[in-house]
Amino acid sequence: MNNKAIFKISYGLFVLSVKDSDKANGCIVNTVMQVTSSPDRVSVAVSKENYTHDILMETKEFTASVISEKADFELFRHFGFQSGADCDKFADYSNYENASNEIPYIKKGCNSYICGKITDSMDLGTHTLFIADVTDMDIIDDAPSATYEYYHKNIKPAADTKNVTSKTSWLCTICGYIYDGDPLPADFICPICKHDASVFVKIDKDGNKTENPEQENDRGEQGVDA
Ligand code: FE
Repeated sequence: MNNKAIFKISYGLFVLSVKDSDKANGCIVNTVMQVTSSPDRVSVAVSKENYTHDILMETKEFTASVISEKADFELFRHFGFQSGADCDKFADYSNYENASNEIPYIKKGCNSYICGKITDSMDLGTHTLFIADVTDMDIIDDAPSATYEYYHKNIKPAADTKNVTSKTSWLCTICGYIYDGDPLPADFICPICKHDASVFVKIDKDGNKTENPEQENDRGEQGVDA
């Protein structure tokens, strides 16, 4: 069996927004897909570690903004590399409007949005799979939708090694943070994206991977959500 086959599945990227009585929140997922067209119905899988997951379980409604190739890394940093449990992601953010369900959609770096009302869910262990009826949707602009592969090739910054002093250091494959030194502590948590040591790869002083050069982020949507 070639475990890399799973990486050949293509994914879109989305800002999944929710709102409870206190505040709105959003995270990045790659798991929104249409499952039926009569009626229009979508599914989305969300990690239970996400603050967004808990709100979704409670409120049963969301807006999914489809990320386009015009998106910049700041969009991923803002919605992906911090948790709504620690901050209000919409408090200092102006590139949104409320959809008809009063849940924000993202106007900058997204080409459309889908409003969903959850009708079913399935416990998948680490994630919950939600099935939702589409209650509203609209196009924002005609930029192509970004795929997960496009994000990795064109939006995610390359490793910045200019301040690296060690001969061998470790690169976070999720966000590009570099741990300057070797070995990487087994219990290390990335200070930027909060992923653990398992997503780091060894690099040399020029930023080249020295082991498993083919290794990609294998964490699915966990690579970009929070
Ligand atoms: Fe990181």
